[in-house]
Amino acid sequence: MQSIIHQLTQSRRVLLTTHTHPDGDAIGSLLALGLILERMGKTIAMVDDDPIPAIYRFLPEVERILRHAPPDTDFDAAVVLDCGSLERIGAVGTTVAKVPLVINIDHHVTNKAFGAFALVDPNACATAEIVYRLIRKMGAPIDKIVATAIYTGIFTDTGSFRFSNTNLGAFTICQEMVALGVDPYQVAKHVYGTYSLGRIKLLNMALDSIELTANGKMTIMTLSQEMLRETRTQPEDGDGLINYARRIEDVRVAALIQELNSGQADQFHVSLRSDGSVDVARIAQARGGGGHAMAAGFSVTAPLADVKADLLRLAAQL
Ligand code: AMP
Ligand code: MN
Ligand code: MN
Repeated sequence: MQSIIHQLTQSRRVLLTTHTHPDGDAIGSLLALGLILERMGKTIAMVDDDPIPAIYRFLPEVERILRHAPPDTDFDAAVVLDCGSLERIGAVGTTVAKVPLVINIDHHVTNKAFGAFALVDPNACATAEIVYRLIRKMGAPIDKIVATAIYTGIFTDTGSFRFSNTNLGAFTICQEMVALGVDPYQVAKHVYGTYSLGRIKLLNMALDSIELTANGKMTIMTLSQEMLRETRTQPEDGDGLINYARRIEDVRVAALIQELNSGQADQFHVSLRSDGSVDVARIAQARGGGGHAMAAGFSVTAPLADVKADLLRLAAQL
């Protein structure tokens, strides 16, 4: 941590990025560290390839996050947050590749330890926890804006303090963030508040798609581009749907196969969730992806039937 603080202190222009299809931890960590570095007098650019999902647009200063890296800045350092591998940052990777110093801050157990400096703690409940510790170590003050970003990162990545990554830090840091002015009701209201009618219709289709394997130990949910078109929803509206499939009795692993809108056929993202008895990070890693023991994912180019056949083979071994 000390060497990363040293590098950040020395840098004048810092590029910060996170994974594509960003979640609350990705966005919260990006905003918290980015804004702190800016207040320390640095020129910063916060970038994510994908749009910010509607439920996170309430975050103060979230509009500062750009879709593309500014082309005419020579960055001294690039910080990659909440991201197990560089492939997951998308097109901003071409800019990151030109930056002389890459700093990797993450909590995925499958993190590939890329970058000149890596601060990876799989015991952290969220990347926002690591960012919080870094900010405190730097001695920088945390205001309500940064506190809201940190709180939201921890609140969402722990599934509102329900998932297995919920640790003491989740509570102590969030308590401190509330003391600094964060309104838990306001955050919860935005994160869980209202859904478009389309999202509810999509939920209906997703629930309808659930298949249970012969041994009853795995569920497979499928989301197609056609379903998104029909309900006029965005990929972000599929976030969290897999949890319904995981909560079915006796199910050890839930899989969600999502057809990607890449312009190419047969491209899917597979999300995996476990009840705790199966390490899905290993399953995802064996397929070129990664994640955590209880929540992981991978991308695959293959006909849907083959993707399902692979999952059925896995299910039979459970
Ligand atoms: P998801 O499947 O997108 O719901 O993600 C579940 C967890 O696995 C998250 O912590 C992701 O960061 C991680 N993950 C998902 N896809 C990948 C991938 N292709 N490579 C590495 N980690 C992934
Ligand atoms: Mn994330
Ligand atoms: Mn995370």
